[in-house]
Amino acid sequence: MIPQTMLAARFPGDDQIEIIETAVPQPGPGEALLLTRFCGLCGSDRRLYHRGTAITPGHELTATVVQNGPGATLPEGARVVVYIKRFCGACRQCRAGMTNRCAEAKGGLVGWQTPGGYAQYLTAPAANCIPLPDDIGDDEGVLLLDTIGTAAHGIHYALAASDAHTRSQRAAIVGVGPLGLGSQLILSALGWAEIGVYDPNAARVAVATEWGATALDLEDSTLQDSFGLVIEASGQPAARELAMRLVESGGAVLMLGENDNPWTLTPSPQIRRKEAAYVRTFYFPLSG
Ligand SMILES: [Zn+2]
Ligand SMILES: [Zn+2]
Repeated sequence: MIPQTMLAARFPGDDQIEIIETAVPQPGPGEALLLTRFCGLCGSDRRLYHRGTAITPGHELTATVVQNGPGATLPEGARVVVYIKRFCGACRQCRAGMTNRCAEAKGGLVGWQTPGGYAQYLTAPAANCIPLPDDIGDDEGVLLLDTIGTAAHGIHYALAASDAHTRSQRAAIVGVGPLGLGSQLILSALGWAEIGVYDPNAARVAVATEWGATALDLEDSTLQDSFGLVIEASGQPAARELAMRLVESGGAVLMLGENDNPWTLTPSPQIRRKEAAYVRTFYFPLSG
């Protein structure tokens, strides 16, 4: 029995969150009605917490399929994780499986342009609902999206863009919040044994070192130009500049951090006299 109304979080801005009662949405063509099971907090939600939004946020969620809209055929009761990028399925990028790049008008992100998981119910395209295996919990399931999916795709892309013949197997991660730690897990799974991390937050560094990383001492000038892969996962201008200093010739800097503020880079000789790939990726494609 689907109720008429539900509770949803509203972010009016100025660091306020209100719980409101609102109508349960109706799934449109090709969409499913989902019951939220678990919705993770993302660092990017902080921007909405500060400035406010008319849309219910929440974009890292596991949910149960409650009802299919016209044309949707998901098994009711199935547990899913929600892929946040709405995509057309027909453009050149979508046909190539690169759904994260779809720029078609009906694109947009669940929890950003359309209501997300900080509510009891939401609707999402059936094509965005990824079945969750029984042995993965609701709280772990959300980590497969922004934390693991984004990191794995970005690393894959950055390694393809770098010079595999010359770069070292040394990685540095600048910013070890959830995305930085997710990147560390992916690198470890790929066999990278030498992973250095930097974060001003000692508690985060402690997690990374417990998982086998080395804490980088920024006073150590020998760290410059010495990493085959540098992952910037904080979005801070100083971290971006640091990443560009740490990467070696032939290596790649992977920019994953988000920040809406303008960023100015001083193109010092140290930065411009090396050949390195600077890669920006977004989320991950459904093609894997
Ligand atoms: Zn997120
Ligand atoms: Zn498309």
